[in-house]
Amino acid sequence: MRVMVWFRTDLRTRDHAALFEAARVATRGVVGVFVVSPGEWRAHEWAGAKVAFTLRGVAALRSSLEKLNIPLRIVRSETPGEIPDVLAGLARETACDALYATIEHEVNERRRDAMVKSSFERAGVRTAWFEGQTLVTPGSVRTGAGTPYTVFTPFKRSLLARWEAEGWPLMSGLPRQQEAMVCTPSPVPKVEEGFDSSVPAKLWPGGEDEARRRLGAFLSDRVGNYDTARDRPDVEGTSALSPYLALGMISPRECVAAAHRAVPRGSESIPTGVATWISEVIWREFYLHVLAAFPRVCMGRAFDVSTERVAWREDPAGLEAWQEGRTGVPIVDAGMRQLRATGWMHNRVRMITASFLTKNLLIDWRRGESWFMRNLVDGFFASNNGGWQWCASTGTDAAPYFRVFNPVNQGKRFDPDGTYVRRWVPELAAFDASVIHEPWTLLPLTRAGVEYPEPIVDLSTSRVRAIEAFRTAREGGGSR
Ligand SMILES: Cc1cc2nc3c(=O)[nH]c(=O)nc-3n(C[C@H](O)[C@H](O)[C@H](O)COP(=O)(O)OP(=O)(O)OC[C@H]3O[C@@H](n4cnc5c(N)ncnc54)[C@H](O)[C@@H]3O)c2cc1C
Repeated sequence: MRVMVWFRTDLRTRDHAALFEAARVATRGVVGVFVVSPGEWRAHEWAGAKVAFTLRGVAALRSSLEKLNIPLRIVRSETPGEIPDVLAGLARETACDALYATIEHEVNERRRDAMVKSSFERAGVRTAWFEGQTLVTPGSVRTGAGTPYTVFTPFKRSLLARWEAEGWPLMSGLPRQQEAMVCTPSPVPKVEEGFDSSVPAKLWPGGEDEARRRLGAFLSDRVGNYDTARDRPDVEGTSALSPYLALGMISPRECVAAAHRAVPRGSESIPTGVATWISEVIWREFYLHVLAAFPRVCMGRAFDVSTERVAWREDPAGLEAWQEGRTGVPIVDAGMRQLRATGWMHNRVRMITASFLTKNLLIDWRRGESWFMRNLVDGFFASNNGGWQWCASTGTDAAPYFRVFNPVNQGKRFDPDGTYVRRWVPELAAFDASVIHEPWTLLPLTRAGVEYPEPIVDLSTSRVRAIEAFRTAREGGGSR
């Protein structure tokens, strides 16, 4: 048997069940394939930075596969509908008689894979699908009543209890090296037209070696303080692994297994830093399980359907000011500018900027979700949608609608010296920490010469307006 392994958002050779199994059973070799799929990327709003990062990851994957004597072929499909034919053409050309891949749980991806499966099986080519995007199979973590969890903490507790009882996640071994390459690998494109990016490539080198290096450095140097440092955008306190997890250059299992191994021998319990980090990786898992159980969240719907009645404001000028980082609220502008410049934003600031858009500006969370996706190098549907719905109080386990972040207090608390704001909003660089998060409190004379806008919205009245809008929607009113 010769097996074709179709790589998508699983750009790695380690802990890759589909590749491992293909390499084990193939008697006539393995062929890897990656589909350059601009139509699909456009439909899913992939950022230019994410496409460029993906292609760097594909080039690194090609090198890893070559060491196993597995050629990586690159094919193109302008639209997702053409993928079955494009793959079938390659299978014929390379004489493959089976197709293996990692399951992707998002709705459109499942539909695409169902099309590929039925067209291959009609042609007598077997397909096999393996878990690898998640830590455990979605649907396998259930409440006592047998329903999917919609609240994070009991979901996490149940997963941790399972691991304590049955053993912590283990990675699959390395795939078996093949005797010889069965065809020549393809060159990997460096760019894809229509997906330009100004994010420097050196910020996000592609590939599993880089992912593992980051994981190792984080676990040896930073995880000990993670529980306190993770909320501080002014320090490098987190792993910066999200793009690597989003594109599958590292598996979530490898992350959790390595973190668990980092627990000192003889410890009675998992140290707080490690436990908090594992908990964050489980948030990613939780959102993927929610998406698998409630596919409506993949179709632009709110998880909490009562919030579909919220009378969101149409405010193109406000939306543009938010996107461009000129709202006049320093921590919000710093975050939005960090996003543009680096393709990434600190988690605390993602929450602050999302709350500002959905509560203070009362703009539909879907607008923010889409802008993030179009700019994030780590754009990952489950976490982006989950994060936005959490902040907008429309999701599972969401922030209660009456709890509106005050961006000034958030800035003072999590960027106490103003270092983060100074870095991304250089207009305010000379301002003292005591005023940097609310420069409007200074006399106009003191601000003379500083080109920075007044806040585009009053933080207190807009907070009350948001609470009212949500209350009305819950009581059955609103515009929809
Ligand atoms: C509005 C909003 C949008 C978001 N959009 C995305 C997105 O598109 N892609 C994405 O990967 N994350 C998203 N997140 C979650 C989180 O902000 C990022 O995962 C995190 O900032 C990445 O930095 P890190 O790798 O240093 O994380 P670390 O703190 O080192 O955490 C390790 C890993 O755990 C996962 N993780 C951490 N926090 C969360 C969380 N709150 N929810 C889900 N997974 C988490 C990530 O995979 C992360 O790489 C979003 C959060 C919000 C509030």
